[in-house]
Amino acid sequence: MKHLGIFLASLACCFLIGASWKTKRVSVADCTNQSAYASYVSTAMGSWNEAGVVRLYKAACDGRADINIYLDYYEYPPIADTSFTRDSRDNITKATIRLNRNIFDLDWTHGVYTQYVTAHEMGHALGLGHNQVVPSVMSLTDGETYLPSYLDLQNLRNLYRNK
Ligand SMILES: [Zn+2]
Repeated sequence: MKHLGIFLASLACCFLIGASWKTKRVSVADCTNQSAYASYVSTAMGSWNEAGVVRLYKAACDGRADINIYLDYYEYPPIADTSFTRDSRDNITKATIRLNRNIFDLDWTHGVYTQYVTAHEMGHALGLGHNQVVPSVMSLTDGETYLPSYLDLQNLRNLYRNK
C-alpha cells in the first residue's frame, strides 16, 4: 500500500476527538449518484460494523440520514473531508463527508485508494481522529491498509466503551 502515502497528507483532519454517536444505529446515505461508488460505501460500512458497537445501515439520500456522503467541488487539497454537528454533551448529531470532485471526477476507478478514503472519512464520521499506528486506516502516515484494521476496530470500541 506504499502508493497511498503520497495522498494521505492531503486528507483534511477535523477536531472531534472524544465525540461519538449517542445512538447505536447510524444511517448512511450515499448522495454521490455514482453507481460505481456504492460498493465502496458498503464495504467500508461492513468493515466498521465488525467492531460491534455502532450499527451502520444504508438510508436514502433525503437529508434525514445521520451520515451523508456528497460529491462537491472545493479547493484541492483536501481530497475529502468530514464535518459534524454535535450537541452540548459531545454527541455527534450529524456528519457530512465530502469527496472532492476535482479528484474523484477524474476517475471513479481509483480502486483501493477510493476504498481507503471512504473508510477513513467514515472513521471520522464515527468519531475517530488520526493516529500514527500501523496498520490503521486512520493513520496519516502510511497506514498499510485500506479498510479498518483490528487496531481501528479496537479504537472504536474504546471510544464507545462508556456510552
Ligand atoms: Zn483524516
